[in-house]
Amino acid sequence: MKKLLIGNWKMNKNSHDVAEFFKSFNEKYTVKRDAWIAAQAIHFPIVEELKTPSVKAGLQNCSEHIEGAYTGEVSPRSLKDMNGHFVILGHSERRQFFGETSRGLNAKIRTVINEGLVAVYCVGETLSEREAGLTLSLIEDQIHQGLNDQSKANLENLIIAYEPVWAIGTGKTATPDQAQEVHAHIRSILTSKFPAFGGKTRILYGGSVKPDNVEELLAQKDIDGGLVGGASLKAKDFLALCGDK
Ligand code: PEP
Repeated sequence: MKKLLIGNWKMNKNSHDVAEFFKSFNEKYTVKRDAWIAAQAIHFPIVEELKTPSVKAGLQNCSEHIEGAYTGEVSPRSLKDMNGHFVILGHSERRQFFGETSRGLNAKIRTVINEGLVAVYCVGETLSEREAGLTLSLIEDQIHQGLNDQSKANLENLIIAYEPVWAIGTGKTATPDQAQEVHAHIRSILTSKFPAFGGKTRILYGGSVKPDNVEELLAQKDIDGGLVGGASLKAKDFLALCGDK
């Protein structure tokens, strides 16, 4: 399977920036690696219109409900209706600033996948948890809670993103060995929980992935791609991550 790079644009860019990005990106993108963009919900229609067809577009969060009286929420069904492909769920900023928990995310993962979208479920430890030696057990809890009672059919539309919180937006990257250790652990949890799928699930690394460190990270056995914040904002950088210099 091709490596996958997901750009998480967070709450950045205006409509002009989005147009500028795709003007440059579309010209040079060769589909050597898969490229997906997670935009702000309000920009989704222009991303969908301006991107080259081989790029897939999605969101950074959505409701666990499909419709109804939930003022201000974005429905996964509406995203699917607009040709959306995926949703990032449980990003550490959602956990930190909006109180999301792995247990609560379990329902969102189910709804998103049941609506025909791909769920990109984020897990990761803080610096103090790493220093206390809790990384592997914490990741295991996050995976069990998020995936508990998910139907097996759902797992084909699941991606896991390992994002150590201390590496997000800080310029500190996990070393390839540190990342590979956690990815192998995630792979073994998935394989023992879901024997038919664990080996096939894409596991992405996120945390200060940049053009100058992407190749050694992607060379690791269990790293199937990257979830990228800062370096996805400029077309030139994101192209470099996608192997198109
Ligand atoms: C992210 O926000 O998911 C992320 C990994 O950000 P950055 O690449 O800027 O560290």
